[in-house]
Amino acid sequence: MKVLKFGGTSVANAQNIKLMMSIVKIQSQGQQILVVVSAFSKVTDMLQLASQKAAHGDENYKTILVEIEKKHLDVLKELIPIQEQSGLLSHVKRIINHLETLLDGCYLLGELSARTSDTILSFGELLSSFIISEGMQQIIPNSGYKDSRELIKTNADFGKATVNFEVTNKLINEFFESNDKQVVVMPGFIAASLDGINTTLGRGGSDYTAAILAGALNVKELEIWTDVNGMFTANPKIVKQAKPIAYISYQEAMELSHFGAKVLYPPTIQPVLRKNIPILIKNTFEPEAEGTYISNQITASSNPVKGITHIDAITLITLEGSGMIGVSGSSKRLFEVLSHHKINVIFITQASSEHSICIGILNSDAALAENAINAAFEIEILQNKVNPCIVEQNLCIIALVGENMKNHQGLSGRMFSTLGKNNVNIRAIAQGASERNISAVINERDVKKALNVLHENFFEENTKQLNLFVMGVGNVGEKFIEQIHQQKKFLKEKLKINLRVIALSNSRKMYFDEDGISLKDWKFVLETGEEANQNLFFEQIKNLNLRNSIFVDITANESVSQTYEHYLKNNIAVVTCNKIACASGYENYKKLKKLSRQYNAPFLFETNVGAGLPIIDTVKNLVASGDKVNKIQAVLSGSLNFIFNNFDENNTFHDVVKEAGVQGFTEPDPKIDLSGIDVARKILILIRESGYKMEIDEIVNESFMPAECLETTNNEAFFKSLQTHAAHFESIYKEALSKESRLKYVAQFEDGKANVGLRFIPKDHPFYNLEGKDNIVLFFTDRYVDQPLLIKGAGAGAAVTASGIFADVIRIGNI
Ligand code: ADP
Ligand code: ASP
Ligand code: MG
Repeated sequence: MKVLKFGGTSVANAQNIKLMMSIVKIQSQGQQILVVVSAFSKVTDMLQLASQKAAHGDENYKTILVEIEKKHLDVLKELIPIQEQSGLLSHVKRIINHLETLLDGCYLLGELSARTSDTILSFGELLSSFIISEGMQQIIPNSGYKDSRELIKTNADFGKATVNFEVTNKLINEFFESNDKQVVVMPGFIAASLDGINTTLGRGGSDYTAAILAGALNVKELEIWTDVNGMFTANPKIVKQAKPIAYISYQEAMELSHFGAKVLYPPTIQPVLRKNIPILIKNTFEPEAEGTYISNQITASSNPVKGITHIDAITLITLEGSGMIGVSGSSKRLFEVLSHHKINVIFITQASSEHSICIGILNSDAALAENAINAAFEIEILQNKVNPCIVEQNLCIIALVGENMKNHQGLSGRMFSTLGKNNVNIRAIAQGASERNISAVINERDVKKALNVLHENFFEENTKQLNLFVMGVGNVGEKFIEQIHQQKKFLKEKLKINLRVIALSNSRKMYFDEDGISLKDWKFVLETGEEANQNLFFEQIKNLNLRNSIFVDITANESVSQTYEHYLKNNIAVVTCNKIACASGYENYKKLKKLSRQYNAPFLFETNVGAGLPIIDTVKNLVASGDKVNKIQAVLSGSLNFIFNNFDENNTFHDVVKEAGVQGFTEPDPKIDLSGIDVARKILILIRESGYKMEIDEIVNESFMPAECLETTNNEAFFKSLQTHAAHFESIYKEALSKESRLKYVAQFEDGKANVGLRFIPKDHPFYNLEGKDNIVLFFTDRYVDQPLLIKGAGAGAAVTASGIFADVIRIGNI
């Protein structure tokens, strides 16, 4: 004999019921099957809402009732041949009429007692079990029905009654001794007191009904059929990467279910554990999936953590005061008060100073608990020995569960550092002496992130998910997205980095997709987005609160650079090729670096100098390893290098600058390059990263440009001015020729002073042969004294800049 229980979704409609019936039919060949069913999906909630509305004088309970009636009649009509329907339809209508009378009663009296509530809630299972039993007889003629209220007897604690196992086990065995039906259908969740009044076993209690029956009959197995492939490593609705657990012990399953794994109602384990009956959790919609096998065996597994769970809607209550230190009996009084009011305590911590006790309870018990505790400690509060209790609502408990955790060191350290790194603030911590469970109380808004980062850390073979929010999709941005698209698979397989672009924005539009934007057609998708708005972009990222969030700035926009602070403060990393922030006032630069450390949010800007060349990273490593940068000489403008390498007697200065723009080697406003500002910003950033304090106006900028050119206000006027001053540029060129030198725009830092300007570079200088748009940097340090450390390579262009941004993102992935 076997007991099979089918939950609400498994019997949500006629189609699902047919599926479940086919499972029962297969299993019933050769053995007796006891089928326990829940109410149709959502019906218990609807009954609860209808009864509350009625009791509050809200006539809308009638609409809900109509909906409930329709739902059941529709299913019946689909399961039963038309010629047999009429008697059954009127039976269902009679049940509904009875329900209506009860609801009308609540409405008229304006009251809903716990006892009446149980009777009203019992209609969900009464209706579903009747209809399913009738449907079952269509496909398994030798099947019958039994009302659980006649077998399962409880006390009169309405809402969650306690089972009288002595009477119940006897009644169950008596009934089944004389039962000759192959399949018996029974309602879950409902029971009756010894004097015959309806009771319920608590929300989610159909699992328990099935376990009570399984235990009493000592069957070989209890199967719980639901809508997921078993008990998962975390709630699969919240953690997409969660996996079914193949084997788990009773204790672990109990711990997981107590801590919120709704897939199994916590008391379910008790009746079967005593008899050593295994529980199998299966998916009605994927019967071939293995499911989860719960038994008394503790399986050896390389992972000591079995699952991660959480309980929502938690309130922390803290009772503290000097009057509690060393005074025995304070905690006894506290827990007595709570027990007297039937308030379930989920979580307890007490500091060894005994100065305070902190308990976690459900939000719904908070007001009652607060009043009761304050009343119980009234005298101490009046004498200032104890403070009125502190109540913090809307928290949540997360827990790591696993039988083998006690044999492993460092798990709690790993748990809390993972949460800390992701800026999840921990309000309280508890670890039972059994070490089967480590729990922490956190803010409700962080729960999704916390569960996901913990799951990633404990279950996902070190795969790290990075969530990118990209602003700016011009030349460089486009290349960047192309590169991600191309490398995605490689990164996942080889580097265990799962890179997802969650949002894109240009100056007109922005688009979000929490599951990751398809990069194949991102341009089209972006066009369908909402109107771009920097503040809303930030707010949405903040509200999504995804782990490892990275804001990628690929604009050259000052106002975007002013938003980094908000991102960093919310533990969102910033990767930018926009130089404005790091070249702004020194205090601002310092502040951003400090925020980055304080909030554990990387702030990376490798592409600010030399595009994709690893220049900043090198400086950082030099400084970190104790070296000191004494002097820097560099050609840092790929644009200016390109321009001076191509400017000769055949190509005018004007034409070469134009061409550099066309090829994407200059800033959108070429004055930023030609004025030397861009180079000054770059050397400034290198100086600061080397550990020196400097402001941009301390850098001497010896401009070679006529003032009139730099004063123009648009590109058209600027290019015109280059033509007007053609002779000026020509003379510079001629002078270089006569000195047998080449023109290079050089940045220099030495003895705490810096300058940038056009220089005549003689043949024997390392800068002389610098080709195309290349950059070169020479670092003279304590360790590199005579022969400088030299970095050289392409220093401008969309593809290399994009790859530099990409490298910063990967750096974050490797932290
Ligand atoms: P039923 O109606 O079949 O009793 P429930 O809704 O009570 O189903 O329980 C199944 C649901 O439990 C799943 O759909 C899932 O959302 C939720 N759940 C929460 N935690 C877990 C977990 N660790 N493993 C599996 N399911 C979980
Ligand atoms: N129908 C009841 C509920 O929703 C019992 C169950 O489904 O297990 O709580
Ligand atoms: Mg359930």
